[in-house]
Amino acid sequence: MSLCQNTSLPANYCPVCQTSGQVFLPLSPFFWETAARHGFDCYEDCEMTPLDTYSCSACGASDRERLYAWWFNEQIRQGRLTSSSRIVHFAPEAAFSAYIQSLRLFTSYKTADLMMEGVDYNLDLMQIALPDASVDCFLCSHVLEHVPSDRVAAKELYRITASGGFGLLMVPIAVGLERTREDPTAVTEADRWKLYGQGDHVRLHAKKDFIDCITSAGFRVQELTWRHFGAKFYKRLGLKPTSTLYIAEK
Ligand SMILES: [Zn+2]
Repeated sequence: MSLCQNTSLPANYCPVCQTSGQVFLPLSPFFWETAARHGFDCYEDCEMTPLDTYSCSACGASDRERLYAWWFNEQIRQGRLTSSSRIVHFAPEAAFSAYIQSLRLFTSYKTADLMMEGVDYNLDLMQIALPDASVDCFLCSHVLEHVPSDRVAAKELYRITASGGFGLLMVPIAVGLERTREDPTAVTEADRWKLYGQGDHVRLHAKKDFIDCITSAGFRVQELTWRHFGAKFYKRLGLKPTSTLYIAEK
């Protein structure tokens, strides 16, 4: 037996389409090239978003969607999510949302967005048109970097979450940043590409400030890293070693 056979790595795996052995494709150069052209200095610094293994060639799921799907399934297996759980998915990612719906498990899975067509609720995260304590689990990824006040939105998420409920709350985080970068005078797309790495973002979060934003709203925060999921598993999913899930718990 050759040494090669003994040391072969396990195949790539995508929990969204549940296939293994497929290729993970690089992030479209449009993003990092445009950011670089405007002078953005943190692209390599993102906690998630690997440039070279970004999307699943089989279903299109991004790196974060792959980890979300795995985590979501874990909540089902552990009984934290049941068929009667009231779930709201803000700015639903296509592959992750299709995955949840394909489970045909939940009687109350709702999608929500300010602008997107085809969702169940068109609502503003700064003023969520849902009753207090009416949600058992929310999914809110890569939204708070778009809204005028992340702190107001986090408080609204806390208000709608039932006691004992929880949510997946994610933003792009630049690991080298000491303080969240936010400049109200940066109003042009070019300014925002330069400061935040995307033309429609209004801030770039530092880890410490993001955690403070969640806890100030009233939540406890659980950080899930490779220590929870396993380093080898991170490799199979094509994730950056720094990838972290932020779970807000009420
Ligand atoms: Zn996939």
